[in-house]
Amino acid sequence: MAKQTVLVSGGAGYIGTHTAVELLATGYDVVIIDNLSNSETAAVEGVRRISGVNVPFEQVDTCDEQALRKVFERYGFDSVIHFAAFKAVGESVHEPLKYYRNNLTSFMNICALMHEFGRPNILFSSSATVYGDADTLPVTEQTPRKPATSPYGNTKQMAEDILRDCCAAYDGMYGVALRYFNPIGAHPSALIGELPRGVPQNLVPYITQTAAGIRECLSIFGNDYPTPDGTCLRDYIDIVDLAKAHVATISRMTQGRMKQRYEIFNIGTGRPVSVLELVHGFEKANGLKLNYRIVGRRAGDVPAVWADTRLANEELGWRAERPLEETLRAAWAWEKHLRKIQ
Ligand code: NAD
Ligand code: UDP
Repeated sequence: MAKQTVLVSGGAGYIGTHTAVELLATGYDVVIIDNLSNSETAAVEGVRRISGVNVPFEQVDTCDEQALRKVFERYGFDSVIHFAAFKAVGESVHEPLKYYRNNLTSFMNICALMHEFGRPNILFSSSATVYGDADTLPVTEQTPRKPATSPYGNTKQMAEDILRDCCAAYDGMYGVALRYFNPIGAHPSALIGELPRGVPQNLVPYITQTAAGIRECLSIFGNDYPTPDGTCLRDYIDIVDLAKAHVATISRMTQGRMKQRYEIFNIGTGRPVSVLELVHGFEKANGLKLNYRIVGRRAGDVPAVWADTRLANEELGWRAERPLEETLRAAWAWEKHLRKIQ
């Protein structure tokens, strides 16, 4: 059988690079497109070094329909994984149009060209943010979505609906939305990982930068939540495990195993971990002490959210495997690689 090709939009980014590596390791061909608005070509080099494959890379903005069309004309892929989006929640509150324009225009261009070229499979990067402050935990795919609290979150809800409606309307179109929980860590090679710009907004990059001495002290946002130790609970999913969930989904799509034309899966570990547990886990995994202090709550944070992963486990034949300690070691190894720390 001829090799299947997957177009990976936003494939120079954090999740895209790890996914490209796992697709290549499984035997898929990959084409990466990215406008490098939040990434660097070195990330694509990292994918090439790990995989030993000279993966094609095109610097293309997915909002530019003409440029994207040329990619469709040039490469014969059947599936796309659409990562290309802006993802800073806080920024999206201050610059909503930047987010609506980029995240929705790019996704609609992808859907329109997939339809026009008769390419069937669209995997969309959604987020646990669509659940908001859920009434019941853990959340299942049936848990009602809450009104989005940021333009970023709203683009995820709107894009899910766009995909659902396109799959219902266009014969031969299949869609999956993967709702990621909190992706963390890096590839064990330390050749690819997360590249936050400026001051990190997410917990693990802030921890690793504090350990590296770039930040003086980690602020823990609130210890008066109704949780066992008072800090928020999240479901931290290892980046390589997350990447493998994409491979499992693409296999399901390309092998005609989908049960509905549009499907949704939670991608997490199913295990709630508090901020303090994560901080202490990082210290233990890497044999170091972290400078931290408790400060007030951060606006918009929900006290707790974690995944019921049974649907993904059963239907995708996938589960999170990497122990948290290993993930936290990989996160630190990546930070040391970036900062050239021995
Ligand atoms: P990232 O910023 O590292 O990767 C996104 C990539 O898309 C970047 O390389 C960026 O340059 C590119 N991009 C953005 N707009 C583009 C455009 N118009 N055309 C071409 N390329 C464009 O982010 P990530 O963490 O890898 O996230 C990937 C996807 O997963 C995003 O859609 C994000 O919203 C979603 N997601 C991420 C998380 C997370 O915590 N990292 C959680 C849930 C969902
Ligand atoms: N957090 C923190 N200090 C930081 C960054 C994050 O205490 O510098 C907490 C945040 O309040 C939340 C958890 O860590 O409870 C995860 O936050 P992150 O921004 O990584 O992901 P989110 O769940 O908000 O998408």
